[in-house]
Amino acid sequence: MADPKGFLKVTERELPKRRPVPVRIMDWKEVYEQGDPAQLRRQAGRCMDCGIPFCHQGCPLGNLIPEWNDLTWRGEGRAAIERLHATNNFPEFTGRLCPAPCESACVLAINQPAVTIKQVEVSIIDEAFGNGWVQPQPPGRLTGKTVAVVGSGPAGLAAAQQLTRAGHTVAVYERDDRIGGLLRYGIPDFKMEKKHIDQRLAQMTAEGTRFRAGVDIGVDITWEQLRARYDAVVVATGAMVPRDLPIPGRDLPGVHFAMDYLTQSNRHLAGDNVFDQITAEGKHVVVLGGGDTGADCIGTAHRQGALSVTNLAIGKEPSAVRPPEQPWPMHPTIFEVQSAHEEGGNRHYLVSTVEFVPNDVGELRAIRVAETEYLDGRRVPKAGTEREIPADLVLLALGFTGPETRTLDEQLQLPVTDRGNIARDDDYATAQPGVFVAGDAGRGQSLIVWAIAEGRAAASAVDRYLEGETLLPSPIPATARAFSI
Ligand SMILES: Cc1cc2nc3c(=O)[nH]c(=O)nc-3n(C[C@H](O)[C@H](O)[C@H](O)COP(=O)(O)OP(=O)(O)OC[C@H]3O[C@@H](n4cnc5c(N)ncnc54)[C@H](O)[C@@H]3O)c2cc1C
Ligand code: SF4
Repeated sequence: MADPKGFLKVTERELPKRRPVPVRIMDWKEVYEQGDPAQLRRQAGRCMDCGIPFCHQGCPLGNLIPEWNDLTWRGEGRAAIERLHATNNFPEFTGRLCPAPCESACVLAINQPAVTIKQVEVSIIDEAFGNGWVQPQPPGRLTGKTVAVVGSGPAGLAAAQQLTRAGHTVAVYERDDRIGGLLRYGIPDFKMEKKHIDQRLAQMTAEGTRFRAGVDIGVDITWEQLRARYDAVVVATGAMVPRDLPIPGRDLPGVHFAMDYLTQSNRHLAGDNVFDQITAEGKHVVVLGGGDTGADCIGTAHRQGALSVTNLAIGKEPSAVRPPEQPWPMHPTIFEVQSAHEEGGNRHYLVSTVEFVPNDVGELRAIRVAETEYLDGRRVPKAGTEREIPADLVLLALGFTGPETRTLDEQLQLPVTDRGNIARDDDYATAQPGVFVAGDAGRGQSLIVWAIAEGRAAASAVDRYLEGETLLPSPIPATARAFSI
């Protein structure tokens, strides 16, 4: 156990500072300053090594949190990364991007601020990469079996790494020109710089995983051809069909889906020449929808030099503290102040958008909004409360309705659930023998930690399908939901 009296001696939660706003919005680098090792050790020492570590259940990966808190406190970084990698292929992603449901479930959080679990996690992996402790782990022998993984987001990458290490010959197909899924083209650099994806891909390539970017399965190669060519297929294509807002003026130039905007910004930063890029520079920007996507648009707009940024949400403002109906150890919905929210702009709740308003020459001039009222549980615009907000650029960050399923349905006849996700059983198997599904494609738009957990579990199911047995760990059945989300 880490320091037995640590939680009594250190009652404050300490995190590395975020860089000053005026400095950080001048660049795209990550917002956090370098962490202090002494502070990290103090924080790891607050872990109580509980008899029942609720943080394990809070984490969809079942990360062995008290073990690596203890090892961090003892200064045994090399052992810590081994325990962390035992359950998580990519702690450099989760340690930066996870909303940390583990911390909501931390026992210390009942009457003190939670242990800074996520910070300990990212520090362990950054130290490990920095010291050259993350080395390729190629398989000892090849099975002669082949697997195609379609989609290179965290679910596809986790499945591919597990299956490669189990000795299968794995090819990852990605229709974008670069590997990484939403990590590459959704999430901006100020949350996670792309070098973290690239260094992990270098390890995976050295282990033997093959990457095929720029191949759209269902179009360039049909799903049937892929199934015939490989012994098994993992569908990890994400859930990126955006929710639209079909109101008057929707077709005006200046109204865009958030992902179109974020993808172009990420491409521009990667050095691509983006023709006619959607940019916030010199514009009044309105972001519709809260959540991660909305926050990413806000931070991007500020860095591009927006004149103003307004964020509107149709629902109620979440409570600043844990609401009674979401008691510990649940992961509560509370008012979040992400780094992007600190950087400027206004947030307004209970606002319904009723129209995108053009100027005389047919360009977007404003949006017309009204207060939201609840009628029979439905959210509707309240009559007589309409007003206009000036807008040159509107970004729709209203969530995602599910995965694209057309070619999967036409070519493999894969059924979908009533929520539009690709149907699978508890072993991640679809209706087609040898075809499995992992991540958002089967779960709906979710979190990186869930995508990695599902990729690992699906890999275990694929290995059992191919070999009759498996030594790969299977953290969760497909229908499981941790109590924290
Ligand atoms: C803007 C944004 C910000 C987010 N921020 C966070 C965050 O901070 N923290 C967090 O935990 N979660 C966040 N999320 C959610 C998280 O990114 C996803 O849950 C996660 O990436 C899902 O992983 P995945 O591997 O299932 O799919 P994805 O990451 O969506 O990857 C799927 C890949 O499959 C490819 N593909 C699709 N169809 C085909 C085909 N037919 N052939 C070949 N390739 C195909 C796609 O191009 C894509 O690259 C965010 C989501 C968005 C949109
Ligand atoms: S992956 Fe997320 S939930 Fe799991 S330990 Fe890390 S921060 Fe916590």
